[in-house]
Amino acid sequence: MRIQLAEILLEDGQALHREVPLEREVMKVGTEHFVLSEKSPVILDIANTGSQVIKIEGSCKVSARIPCGRCLEEVEISFPLVISREVDMKRLDGERVRELDESNFITGSELDVEQLAYNELLVQWPMRVLCKEDCKGLCSRCGANLNHGDCGCDRKSLDPRMAAISDIFSKYKEV
Ligand SMILES: [Zn+2]
Ligand SMILES: [Zn+2]
Repeated sequence: MRIQLAEILLEDGQALHREVPLEREVMKVGTEHFVLSEKSPVILDIANTGSQVIKIEGSCKVSARIPCGRCLEEVEISFPLVISREVDMKRLDGERVRELDESNFITGSELDVEQLAYNELLVQWPMRVLCKEDCKGLCSRCGANLNHGDCGCDRKSLDPRMAAISDIFSKYKEV
C-alpha cells in the first residue's frame, strides 16, 4: 500500500497515523524463500519534523517458518519488526537511494509501505534460528536428525571437511 505524504509536507508538525496490512506472503533473503505465516498490520506514525524532514516510526509482528541452523527442521519464529526512519524530502529520490544503499520506498511524495517493510525485514531477519537450545543437529556421517535418536554412526573420527564446518558452528555459538 502507498501513503501520500504531500499533505503533511505542507506544514511543519503535521502528522498522520495509519495501520497498513502487509501484502507480502513470501520473504526472499539471499537465495532462500521463507513463508510469512502471520503478520500483523504495520502501525505507522509519520510526522513532518520541519524543513521537509519526515520521521517514520512503525512496528509490526511477523511470523515465519525458518529452518533450524543445526537440524534444518522448520521452526515457527515470531519477531517484531521495528521501523524508525528519517527521510529528508529535499533530497532527490536517486540521491536517497545511493546514500542508503537500498531500494527506494519513497517516490515523489508517496511512501511505499510494502517496500519500506521489505527493506527492514531484510535487515532484521533472524539469521541464527535453533529449534531448541540443545538441538543435537544432524549426524555428520549419515545426515540423520539426532534429536530423533542416535543413528549409531561413529562421529569421533570426523572427516576433515566436516571438522572445519563444526568449528565454524562452535565459533557462532560463542557470539
Ligand atoms: Zn534443530
Ligand atoms: Zn549417522
